[in-house]
Amino acid sequence: MKTTQLLIPTQKEAPNDAQVISHQLMIRAGLISKLASGLYSYLPMGVRILKKVEAIIREEMEKSGSQEVLMPVTQPAELWQESGRWEQYGPELLRFKDRHGRDFCMGPTHEEVITTMAAQYIRSYKQLPMSFYQIQTKFRDEIRPRFGVMRSREFIMKDAYSFHLDQESLQNTYDIMHQTYCNIFDRLGLDYRPVLADSGSIGGDASHEFHVLADSGEDAICFSDESNYAANIEKVSFSQQQATATPKEQQTSVLTKKKTSIEQVSEFLAIAPSSCIKTLIIKTLEGFKALALRGDHELNEIKAHNLFGEFELASDDEIKSLGLKKGFIGIKALGIDLVVDYSASIMCDFVCGANEWDHHLTGVNWQDTEFTQADLRNAIEGDDSPDGQGKLVIKRGIEVGHIFQLGTKYSKAMKANVIGESGKAVTTTMGCYGIGVTRVIAAAIEQNYDDRGIIFPESIAPFQLVIVPINYNKSTRVKALADDLYQVCLEAGIEVLLDDRKERAGIMFADSELLGIPHRMVLSDTHADNGNVEYKARNSAEKIEVSYDQAMTFIQSKIK
Ligand code: ATP
Ligand code: MG
Repeated sequence: MKTTQLLIPTQKEAPNDAQVISHQLMIRAGLISKLASGLYSYLPMGVRILKKVEAIIREEMEKSGSQEVLMPVTQPAELWQESGRWEQYGPELLRFKDRHGRDFCMGPTHEEVITTMAAQYIRSYKQLPMSFYQIQTKFRDEIRPRFGVMRSREFIMKDAYSFHLDQESLQNTYDIMHQTYCNIFDRLGLDYRPVLADSGSIGGDASHEFHVLADSGEDAICFSDESNYAANIEKVSFSQQQATATPKEQQTSVLTKKKTSIEQVSEFLAIAPSSCIKTLIIKTLEGFKALALRGDHELNEIKAHNLFGEFELASDDEIKSLGLKKGFIGIKALGIDLVVDYSASIMCDFVCGANEWDHHLTGVNWQDTEFTQADLRNAIEGDDSPDGQGKLVIKRGIEVGHIFQLGTKYSKAMKANVIGESGKAVTTTMGCYGIGVTRVIAAAIEQNYDDRGIIFPESIAPFQLVIVPINYNKSTRVKALADDLYQVCLEAGIEVLLDDRKERAGIMFADSELLGIPHRMVLSDTHADNGNVEYKARNSAEKIEVSYDQAMTFIQSKIK
């Protein structure tokens, strides 16, 4: 294509709300345009990239044996009532009424729709296993849409769902999907890691997330420095440990006026935060509970949710009504259940609140205190890896994909049964598999850019090659050579852009570099005199003179 025929609205400045580099560059390169918070239009260059990502995903999904379907974005409330999620799903689910007053929602995901479809059409165990996918728009009314298309409200997802007679068959398809995702992310040219993810009540290794490693990632991923262990921080689990030290100190109450945080207390007493205990009060459906953690550890909300169900931190008033003193809560005589994190339970001679205003206790030990133990905390850098090999290192990741063994959660609720071998009805077992198609583009940019702009992986660049003729509109010789080269490239099936604008060379170079086109050929009168063209790869500073006659074979050898 020719630049003058295209809308490529590049700009020098990024908008103020663009905090991360991918958001800035996607706007500056004219790939997307903001319509409203979390809503973006894809401009022509953006669509070219999107189509390439989709094509790779589609090809690999077809290879995996999954069948493409397309389900409506708009979903009737009845389906969500059947699965129980109409009540459970929070405000991310956009609900509305049609003109007849019937309730609907914009699909944030499609388990309900696909399971209803399977219940209707899959009748016999002989048809199983079967898997379906679609590439389609989702809507989630995110509380904080940000980072451009990375966390938007409307986005494109590839979602897939599989149906099975038993767990073995599900595991088999799950393994195929895991491999399919690796193939997809390899082809997309991403530096990614599959990591263990929280699988809620299903447990085990029934869920993996695929993360692109980037400092701007919203998730923390833990890796062992010695083994292959990798897990989302939410998922790293710890087991009960044996105490190694023995108590030596005498319990003493000390005045800690207005020192309410671990930071303040440890600084005031000149001790490490890891020698303190912090006590959190939570409100569960069964009442209040106290949770004790080491001072430098954070509560893992998913673990707490798995243990206690729905919960929230108690309010100041609630803490007061329990007779406790916020900032000075300890571990003794709390009057409510105390659950102690494994790492806190092996501490000796620690500091905690004295249950008395402006006082903490030092030299505290666990004897004479009633409590239960649990795994409550997030991992921190340097923790022993749960597989027993090496220490944990923490990096940031962008979740681009998620595969999950669902079990019978939806198939039971939506009655997706088949007639089994014995003639009796069997509830199918399900898996689900998502990729954030639009998020992938942002993630690819987070990993591939420099101060001039995007450096697209070859597989998803909007064009493979840009031809920049200098004085195209003045020099008939340059024009003829450039047009010829362009034509030959087109015939060879190369995705080529001819910059035919009446612009200064600097502007044309800057635009193609901002857009991240992997290969560039420059033609000028000087080159024409020498019978050469100049080649430069986007990811290298080197400029190479190639004879005009060899230009085609040269570029073909460069394009992967
Ligand atoms: P997150 O934790 O980032 O909100 P999620 O766990 O809600 O993601 P899934 O429900 O597993 O995401 O959705 C599948 C994929 O869809 C995710 O792996 C992610 O790549 C993508 N995705 C989810 N929410 C968004 C969003 N708001 N904007 C863009 N992509 C998204
Ligand atoms: Mg989400």
